[in-house]
Amino acid sequence: MKVVVLGAGVVGTATAWYLARAGHEVVVAERREGPGLETSFANGGQVSPCHAEPWANPAVLGKMLRWLGRDDAPLVFRWTRWDPRLWAWGVRFLANCTASRAEVNTERTIRVALYSRQCLQELRAETGLDYEQRTDGILHIYRDPAEFAHARAAAGLMGRFGLPRLDKTPAECVAIEPALAHVAPELAGGIHTPGDESGDAYLFTSRLADLAAGQGVTFRTGVTVRALEHSGKRVTGVVTDHGRLAADGVVLALGSYSPLLARPLGLRLPIIPAKGYSVTVPVAGHGGAPKVSITDDEFKTVYSRLGERLRIAGTAETAGWDTDLNDRRWRLLLERARSLFPDGGDYDTPQPWTGLRAVTPDSVPLLGATPYENLWLNTGHGTLGWTMACGSGRVIADLLSGRKPEIDIIGLGLDRF
Ligand SMILES: Cc1cc2nc3c(=O)[nH]c(=O)nc-3n(C[C@H](O)[C@H](O)[C@H](O)COP(=O)(O)OP(=O)(O)OC[C@H]3O[C@@H](n4cnc5c(N)ncnc54)[C@H](O)[C@@H]3O)c2cc1C
Repeated sequence: MKVVVLGAGVVGTATAWYLARAGHEVVVAERREGPGLETSFANGGQVSPCHAEPWANPAVLGKMLRWLGRDDAPLVFRWTRWDPRLWAWGVRFLANCTASRAEVNTERTIRVALYSRQCLQELRAETGLDYEQRTDGILHIYRDPAEFAHARAAAGLMGRFGLPRLDKTPAECVAIEPALAHVAPELAGGIHTPGDESGDAYLFTSRLADLAAGQGVTFRTGVTVRALEHSGKRVTGVVTDHGRLAADGVVLALGSYSPLLARPLGLRLPIIPAKGYSVTVPVAGHGGAPKVSITDDEFKTVYSRLGERLRIAGTAETAGWDTDLNDRRWRLLLERARSLFPDGGDYDTPQPWTGLRAVTPDSVPLLGATPYENLWLNTGHGTLGWTMACGSGRVIADLLSGRKPEIDIIGLGLDRF
């Protein structure tokens, strides 16, 4: 089958890889000059099923009230603009803030994330792909005893769904990551997920694209998709600024831009962009940089060691598709890094970056079929697109090939909305 994958982020590229492995003729259409240059470029680097707790949960509303007006708030919803899509999304978000919905959404996320981690490990074993990965787990640290208690309860839930998370004392946190030694007195504790990983998502995406090209995938870069042609309930072609691409099957993997292409087909994808920031600093000559990937829960900030660099990432705000770098927001990340790891890197040569997460109201991706018989969704991965990319790509390749995916896909599709 001739399949056109729209978007060469980590999700589209992984999809192309698995489609090619399944024997399809694959073309990837990407507007940038190469794969992985938008949201997949400088993210937090964590392959983290342990982050499966959805944004919509019973505790979030209280937290959002406390964060109101704070410049350093981890999550900022800006509702001031009259945008019906944003408000419709917000209503669905609120409906997902109950304990029972959060439990359902956590299970769905873990289902994809754990499968994806397994697919990533298999892909690595098969191809020898190197992307500055680390396989020594992720450590969440907590300063507030109440937050730590809440996290331990959530850890119990995740354990039921197959993700073991281990409680750690401050001293045990330091044993896992000695660079935390000077903040140990401030810590209430930590939770370690030894099976989680980290690595450079951009390196992964670009190198996987090279491998996929070796399997016959054509990457049409510098090509902007304008529209999808359709006849009845079948997509017949892809209209781009460089002409038309014929397709027997189409996979929509445009991250936060997916709703814009879907809407003219009558498909309303409940996805909004949530802007985040990262800063990357070199670590050569700095003995205090962490090696194990860390999540500082209080500020929802992640730290990942990528070879000779330290990546610091976090913050989320709904600000439309704006990708301007707000100096204040990224400098906050840098200051947090400096106070947690004073000798963690050269903080005077920071590389700031911003990207747009594609967020659904329940934090579960949109994966699977649409009312159009040959159009498939692989989008809306929110905070966990790197974590879920391989598994999501494989599920789509299986569905397109008429095979039953290896995980249950109930609850992952557009039909849940
Ligand atoms: C600050 C931050 C930290 C993060 N940290 C983590 C983390 O630690 N772990 C994790 O798992 N996830 C993390 N994420 C989320 C993760 O980066 C994303 O979920 C993931 O990159 C999404 O991949 P994607 O392929 O769906 O989207 P993208 O990477 O955005 O790819 C979509 C592609 O579509 C292209 N495109 C869009 N419109 C068009 C068009 N009309 N025509 C042609 N091409 C088009 C774009 O150029 C882009 O290349 C983080 C995100 C941010 C912002």
